Amino acid sequence: MSKRIVITGGAGFLGSHLCERLLACGHDVVCVDNYFTGRKRNIAHLQQYPLFEVLRHDITFPLYLESDQIYNFACPASPVQYQVDPVQTTKTNVHGTINMLGLAKRIKARILQASTSEVYGDPAVHPQREDYLGHVNPIGPRSCYDEGKRCAETLFFDYQRQYNVDIKVARIFNTFGPRMHPFDGRVISNFIVQALRGDNITVYGDGSQTRSFCYVDDMISAIILLMESRSGFFGPVNLGKPGEISMLDLAEKIIRLTASTSHVVFLPLPQDDPRQREPDITLAKSELGWSPLVPMEDGLKETIAYFRKVLAE
Ligand code: NAD
Ligand code: UDP
Ligand code: UDP
Repeated sequence: MSKRIVITGGAGFLGSHLCERLLACGHDVVCVDNYFTGRKRNIAHLQQYPLFEVLRHDITFPLYLESDQIYNFACPASPVQYQVDPVQTTKTNVHGTINMLGLAKRIKARILQASTSEVYGDPAVHPQREDYLGHVNPIGPRSCYDEGKRCAETLFFDYQRQYNVDIKVARIFNTFGPRMHPFDGRVISNFIVQALRGDNITVYGDGSQTRSFCYVDDMISAIILLMESRSGFFGPVNLGKPGEISMLDLAEKIIRLTASTSHVVFLPLPQDDPRQREPDITLAKSELGWSPLVPMEDGLKETIAYFRKVLAE
């Protein structure tokens, strides 16, 4: 049955894939975005759907409309971008989240929060399970995002307990794929763009820090499964692809897959950069029947093809 669905941050990387998948299933989708890091080109091809609507709006201001479900994805995700205006990042995560929860409460919509592995900070427990409470600096340059997202989770659970709002919380681990912004500063987009241009590949620190990367198609499937999961299951649930890779190995893999002549250079490690990160997805497997399917190299090839096209324009 066709549902009315609001996607905040719908012109961003993950949001645009979510709009696309939900429109293809026949839903009525309203994309809400202020274009801080999102782009009209990410959603231009969706205008062909008569049930697609776009609203330029900043979620730190109230929003009044009617819908059955809300996916709250508005918030810059790249450390470079969320540190451009850290006060706005916290406002988006706190004021913005209060507005979207207030909306969900009034219209009795189910609401899903795009939370993050960053709630675990620089983790002392590895791999991270949902019951690990995290190791986060409250006053560092990443805090606007990490603590903002932690507060957003608090608000979700308080709106559930206090007002019985129907919530779902996804803790998303590093995800990559086409429509990442080529210059937003995240590692996969940086390395691919550098490799394709023959520029130096900028590895921060000694490159021994690890991340675990999930391809966007797998992530979108998980997010929709979570939204449709049994009532009473709120999460938080880790979504990501287990399997760590060091940033140095990632640089070498991307150089090989692009047949690039680029060389690795080492730059200072940003403050509070987590040493390692890998999801334990036991809960996602049992509750959602989901596990990621796309091998990392296949995802990288798709992403490289996308950036090749973007850079040629
Ligand atoms: P993105 O930067 O591409 O998308 C974020 C979107 O939100 C952009 O379109 C931006 O313009 C919009 N936005 C920002 N502030 C807004 C505001 N105040 N009002 C309205 N729109 C606003 O990032 P993404 O990778 O697509 O991430 C989407 C969500 O998923 C974010 O909430 C992010 O924290 C979360 N997440 C992403 C990852 C990942 O690896 N991509 C990992 C963990 C969590
Ligand atoms: N809100 C909104 N759309 C709605 C309902 C509420 O944007 O349809 C905003 C409103 O600005 C409010 C916030 O959500 O400040 C929180 O709403 P809630 O009902 O929880 O609190 P209150 O209105 O009592 O402050
Ligand atoms: N990184 C890097 N070179 C870059 C960009 C990032 O070595 O050009 C590193 C960064 O220091 C971090 C990892 O890659 O250790 C992942 O960074 P990203 O910004 O993609 O995401 P996050 O730190 O939020 O996981």
